[in-house]
Amino acid sequence: MDLLYTSTRNSQNKVTASQAILTGLAPDGGLYVPERIPKLTVSKEALMNMTYQETAYEVMKLFFTDFTEAELKNCIQNAYDSKFDVKEIVPVKKAGDAYYLELFHGPTIAFKDMALSILPHLMICSAKKNQAEKEIVILTATSGDTGKAALAGFAHVAGTKIIVFYPKDGVSPIQKQQMVTQQGENTFVVGIEGNFDQAQTGVKQMFSDPVLARELAERGFQFSSANSINIGRLIPQVAYYAYAYARMMAQGELSPEESFHVVVPTGNFGNILAAKYAKEMGIPIGKLICASNENKVLYDFFRTGNYDKNREFILTSSPSMDILVSSNLERLIFEITGRDDEKNRQLMEALSSRGSYQITPEMKEELSDFYGNYAGEKETAAMIKEMYHQEGYVLDPHTAVAACVYEKYKRESQDETKTVIASTASPYKFTRSVMTAIDSSYEGMADFELVDELEKLSGVRVPEGIEEIRRAEVRHKTTCKVEEMPDVVKGFLGI
Ligand SMILES: *Cc1c(COP(=O)(O)O)cnc(C)c1O
Repeated sequence: MDLLYTSTRNSQNKVTASQAILTGLAPDGGLYVPERIPKLTVSKEALMNMTYQETAYEVMKLFFTDFTEAELKNCIQNAYDSKFDVKEIVPVKKAGDAYYLELFHGPTIAFKDMALSILPHLMICSAKKNQAEKEIVILTATSGDTGKAALAGFAHVAGTKIIVFYPKDGVSPIQKQQMVTQQGENTFVVGIEGNFDQAQTGVKQMFSDPVLARELAERGFQFSSANSINIGRLIPQVAYYAYAYARMMAQGELSPEESFHVVVPTGNFGNILAAKYAKEMGIPIGKLICASNENKVLYDFFRTGNYDKNREFILTSSPSMDILVSSNLERLIFEITGRDDEKNRQLMEALSSRGSYQITPEMKEELSDFYGNYAGEKETAAMIKEMYHQEGYVLDPHTAVAACVYEKYKRESQDETKTVIASTASPYKFTRSVMTAIDSSYEGMADFELVDELEKLSGVRVPEGIEEIRRAEVRHKTTCKVEEMPDVVKGFLGI
């Protein structure tokens, strides 16, 4: 029997995995969640001997039950191939007293590649299964990393177009250069005069606009989402936590009975929710440590049970975490209401009308696996410098936020349990912040000079993804105001 997916805002709305992947967001504005989290069926011993691709299959086959074995394996083989610059796909490296799960070895050197290299394949396969004949228009808001990873994934994919909105002044120079140089006639990139939350809200409004949907349908288009609200992004991310566990055991770092904590630098709450799913599947994860930057809505939420986005939006050196509305948290909220769609809908309505909601003490108790904290800009820079000097290991600012929060957790708890830190971006993506954190004398240098300096200093070769964009031509120059987003989309589609 197929595992079905229900909307967090209407449990009557049930779809198959492929339908959920195809549509992204549920029509009622909710997110699709699996009716239950399946348990892994493979033994620990077997897991230890599996490749990344085999592990991914073991995880994904339990969630995407309406895909055949051949279809799913095909998607996996096409996604996790030589686009990644290491055979293991996600190596685990020890530095200091933590283990860094390097999720940035894909084509755009951030962890978004883990999900976005497979999503286009899952989506095309889902379209075939559901006899969807319309051209898929991927609409994406990005705080910097999703955009490029989605563009790279969908560029040149027949039967799709992709439109990416990014905050014009809210991404790193390298991130921007990566996006505006994107090749592919089916790709469109737009800078908006606003922040990421505004871009994301604009995109969500287009998704739930019935008039726009009708206009699109008449012209043979349908929207879908590459944001982490799509279940086709969340589930592939569960795999690397299973793989990390297996690698740690195989390397003799962890005994099979031993559990480990994970620290995740968090923005939209997708990555850490994937860790939670991995735990529910049977991977022995202890604490789920949620690291925020100065936009510390989640830290406040875990402490007080009050989610409140009414605050100043701060631009930090970890832009992919500059988020006040963490979309995927809704999936967890739905869970801790006891899967009560009505209750969840009320909370989410409060969030959109008042900008805040308060959970009950009973709901808060359900969050005991989580620990939240945050790191300020100075601490983050100090961590990058210290880790470089002590370990010769260069962290990107997002991972450095996580490393700071791990330090805080250890200091508070005296807990020495082995801990895996999700390392979400290559330092090459944020060379300016990274290099000036190590030594302020780098300040005067140009971005691509800093790339060469980083290579000298770290001994890690400049990744292909950076070499590629150095001299590439800028192809995308459109900018717009937030309220113009729907018109820009229609313009691109010729409607
Ligand atoms: C997207 C991103 C994050 C945040 O991940 P979420 O799944 O949105 O919580 C953290 N670090 C980097 C480098 C990212 O690109």
